[in-house]
Amino acid sequence: MVLIYSEPGVAWKCVFKECRAFCCAGGREATAGDIRRISEATGLAAKDFAELQDDKGLFRLKSVNGKCIFLNEDYSCQLHKKGVKPIFCRMYPFKFDGIIYADEVVLKVKVFKECPGFGKGFKIGDKFEANIEELGNKFVKEIKDFLRLKKEGLTTEEILKV
Ligand code: SF4
Repeated sequence: MVLIYSEPGVAWKCVFKECRAFCCAGGREATAGDIRRISEATGLAAKDFAELQDDKGLFRLKSVNGKCIFLNEDYSCQLHKKGVKPIFCRMYPFKFDGIIYADEVVLKVKVFKECPGFGKGFKIGDKFEANIEELGNKFVKEIKDFLRLKKEGLTTEEILKV
């Protein structure tokens, strides 16, 4: 399940060159599925670019000098053309706002008002939010897959190869 905290009539435009990829600071949240897809596309071992954040399948991409390890000097993303950007990187201007692990896994996302592109460009409508919800559900599914495989006795390293 995904809880989306948005604002009515909000507009947004990605201005990554202008803001020097403001959103790619710190470590982006990722699932085991994200890590696996990135490893397959880049040939990198998971330990070289990501860290496990908890025992429930939430990973974080590593940072270099405060910026994501996959950010190029021109502020483009090394993973973009390879088609393996983490789910959360495809959800801008919505950001991770926590997970509730109860009977149901609930992902919280909220619109990122600090983004320099906030208020510019196109209006975020129902279609855009439906896409955010779809991506959020994919994220939740991959967290649930991790939890299920852990329960079956697989190690994190084994799960990253499934
Ligand atoms: S993976 Fe790409 S889009 Fe995501 S935070 Fe890193 S550089 Fe930015």
